[in-house]
Amino acid sequence: MKILVTGGAGYIGSHMVARLGELGHDVVIYDNLSTGHDWAILHGNLVVGDLADRALLKTVLEAGNFDAVMHFAAFIEVNESVRDPLKYYRNNYANALNLIESCRDAGVKRLIFSSTAAVYGIPDGGGKVVEGTPLSPINPYGESKAMVEKTLRDFSAASDFRYVSLRYFNVAGADEQSRIGQAYDNATHLITLALRTALGKRDELNIFGTDYNTQDGTCIRDYIHVRDLIEAHVLALNHLADGGGSRIFNCGYGHGYSVREVVAKVKKITGVDFRVVETGRREGDPPALTADSTRIREELGWKPAHDDLGFIIKTAWKWEKLYWKKRESGEI
Ligand code: UDP
Repeated sequence: MKILVTGGAGYIGSHMVARLGELGHDVVIYDNLSTGHDWAILHGNLVVGDLADRALLKTVLEAGNFDAVMHFAAFIEVNESVRDPLKYYRNNYANALNLIESCRDAGVKRLIFSSTAAVYGIPDGGGKVVEGTPLSPINPYGESKAMVEKTLRDFSAASDFRYVSLRYFNVAGADEQSRIGQAYDNATHLITLALRTALGKRDELNIFGTDYNTQDGTCIRDYIHVRDLIEAHVLALNHLADGGGSRIFNCGYGHGYSVREVVAKVKKITGVDFRVVETGRREGDPPALTADSTRIREELGWKPAHDDLGFIIKTAWKWEKLYWKKRESGEI
């Protein structure tokens, strides 16, 4: 197939591009390189462009004759979205709308969208959510993604356009060969920050809140290896290519780990007893958030291969060490 991947130079997008290459697909990457890196693109042709640039989008989409678009490009910092909501509504919503309209104009009828568990906000009960749980985002980041989902739902209902929205839980880990991985300086995610602390790039790791109503007082999350997430996209792509209808799927393993469990595992794997500081709760954190992933397992036959926190952390650790070494030597 011929596929346009927006954000293909970023963390998850670059893993997608590499996998599409392995599968023999023809790929064009559309990325403004604001947070992505050209060295992370292991396959396909890069167009450096912004989704705000309607003229360029039109040219690329009309020339490409794409079978599908995979839309990864977005901002991802929850705190920043609270401080600067318009930045998120502009890039994550308005630019996604540009893309959807441009798909319509160019006759591209299949799209896979990178959504997030943040659309659920703070769920009731034990934190395990099914796709039918009402959307209730509590920050502009989650809201911007929910708005795209609603737009896709309505446009798909009104036309022959079809989409799959994948709601990512806590994506982590890196390529097994350490070619690509998280390479974002402003990372806010737990595993990356813990590893950077182990590496001495940060003085300490904060644990945000130890008084939650969970087994050890810290928050529970569903950490999923990036490679399993990518296989979910491959299945979604094949589903649409086979004529399947528009669908929304949770992407997580269905069970979680507490912040303390993750920290202990990172210390064990890295062998570094880095400094950990227990601080107050971070605003907007649900106590527990895990995926009920029955739907994607049953409908698409998704069978995760790396449901193992140790494997997730090991691949991320190997990558993190190599990444900083390459940076410091000027290789990247
Ligand atoms: N967390 C933490 N210290 C950090 C970063 C994150 O204690 O430096 C906690 C955070 O409060 C949440 C969990 O780790 O309970 C996962 O947070 P992350 O930002 O990785 O992902 P999120 O679940 O917010 O998407």
